[in-house]
Amino acid sequence: MNNTRKNIATPTTAPRSGNVDRRQVKKKESTLDPRLFEKRAKPSGQQGFRTEKSFEDLHLTPKLLRNILDKGYQTLTTIQEQSILPLLDGRDMMAISKTGSGKTAAFLIPIIEHALKDPRNFTALVVTPTRELALQIEEEFKSLTTGLQLYSATFIGGTNINSDPDKLSRKLQVIVGTPGRLLDLSDRKVLDLRKVNTLVLDEFDRMLDMGFVHDVNKLVNRIGHRDQTLLFSATLDPAQKRLIDGLLHNPVEVKVDNGSGTNENIEQQTIHVPEGQDKFELLAELFNNPELDKVILFTETKRLADRLAKKLNQSGIKAGQIHGDKSQNFRNRMIEEFKSGTIRVLVATDVAARGIDVADVSHVINYQRPMTMDAYIHRIGRTGRAGKIGHAITFVN
Ligand code: ADP
Ligand code: MG
Repeated sequence: MNNTRKNIATPTTAPRSGNVDRRQVKKKESTLDPRLFEKRAKPSGQQGFRTEKSFEDLHLTPKLLRNILDKGYQTLTTIQEQSILPLLDGRDMMAISKTGSGKTAAFLIPIIEHALKDPRNFTALVVTPTRELALQIEEEFKSLTTGLQLYSATFIGGTNINSDPDKLSRKLQVIVGTPGRLLDLSDRKVLDLRKVNTLVLDEFDRMLDMGFVHDVNKLVNRIGHRDQTLLFSATLDPAQKRLIDGLLHNPVEVKVDNGSGTNENIEQQTIHVPEGQDKFELLAELFNNPELDKVILFTETKRLADRLAKKLNQSGIKAGQIHGDKSQNFRNRMIEEFKSGTIRVLVATDVAARGIDVADVSHVINYQRPMTMDAYIHRIGRTGRAGKIGHAITFVN
């Protein structure tokens, strides 16, 4: 396969289209047209989510097939149908597919097959923008590899780094992590990145964005030669073309898209906040509707997230919050309480916008208009997953 050393191109000095604007509007209000947040769902349901192709047709290792079926997956999703075979063939890939369309298994299943062929020499590194997403991917890997004697670990910020070397002392076939912690471990010489032969950037457009590209660049340089590189996301930033080309060798490009970006299973509406009206009152009123039973409420700032969670609880609506200033233990607990239904509302910053898969999120509410369309797509993508219907409500002034 790739026998040339593949490095990511140095980020261009020219700003990405949109970045300059983005920073300028950051302090003010979103400039996105409110009409962008209104759309009737075109529920394609399970038909749109799943294909006719069954996992038996893939001729996978029988135990892996068993684990897939045990998870309740019967037929492949569209992205899985289009990506798994070329990935089994060892191809590099850039894949774009809707939120909640099964991208995780699309890249993990071929990784597991490859790992089973040569467990002693196979190492995949899966890099994600958030700690929660890293943990979730490892969880999916573990469930897919029950009884297969493949090993994984997650390395993320906010956890005690002193326990990481121990986890790295055994052979791991899959290493999941966030860039900062992975680099830290590489600096300390406990993580040897040269052993990585498969690299996955999940949410790759975020990973190649200004906030991360520098760290990702370092990781990629330290890995050096690799057999396979996989980029997965629901959104694509055309300004990143050079970076992407620098990462991939003769890639297969898969785009499962209807052109709109948002998942068509999501009913999208706006709520106009009249001048002088108390927005929180409008929000609290929404919760009189019992259909809002599992809600992620997005805010632009951590402080507002704290404030809203507090006010919701004072109004008798059970809420928790998740954002970058909270300890990892607290963040994990909030996700658990949200999953189990102990809290009805998870108030979140964009730290929860990408990748997080909580079953049956009924509604996503944007307390403010998001700054970018991509942020909007990922946020509302926390609902309407796996072929289910979801609802998105955005407050506009
Ligand atoms: P994405 O990464 O595209 O946003 P995920 O990989 O998080 O989506 O998957 C979304 C949900 O769909 C998860 O709960 C996952 O378990 C489920 N899922 C994935 N593949 C299948 C399948 N083939 N059949 C049924 N459910 C699936
Ligand atoms: Mg995902």
